[in-house]
Amino acid sequence: MKLLTEIDNMVATGKLVASADDQAVIDIVKAVIKSSASVSFYLTRAQAEAIKEWLWTPERTRRAGLRLISEEETERIRAELGVEVANFRFSPIECDCGHTYDAFDFIQQGIREHGLDAVTSVFSLKNSTLLQVNPKFVPICPADNQNLLARSNGGITYESPDYGGCSCCAEVLFNES
Ligand SMILES: [Zn+2]
Repeated sequence: MKLLTEIDNMVATGKLVASADDQAVIDIVKAVIKSSASVSFYLTRAQAEAIKEWLWTPERTRRAGLRLISEEETERIRAELGVEVANFRFSPIECDCGHTYDAFDFIQQGIREHGLDAVTSVFSLKNSTLLQVNPKFVPICPADNQNLLARSNGGITYESPDYGGCSCCAEVLFNES
């Protein structure tokens, strides 16, 4: 009864709550990744693992430009932004001003737009992991305020073992040529 009340309250905010077995959930997420629909999924760790194992083949990792960030950048994110990330992978974007928009800039922009609490909450979920598929995030270069979406290989991509992260751009990832 309590759970149904919580679900009812969530649906009242305009969000969907779905229930299905693991395989059905995985099939739905895969279909959305291959589409252009923008959807946030709160998945179990096992579901997120299955999706990432399927999605991040070496070839697609290369196409997306997904790279493990350095220890220095991880430490800078902790010390200057107050966010703990571990084994975080990110697709950096080169701005034509010469600045490289990296994971630090991304998390800093996330904090500016959503607040520190919202950002740290996402990294400390106990049971679920957030996977954002085709998010509507617009990266802005902190050096000259340029909109970097057009330079971003279709969009921004990131993930870490305790975070579903984000997958973007079926036209980049699945255009097998
Ligand atoms: Zn720039």
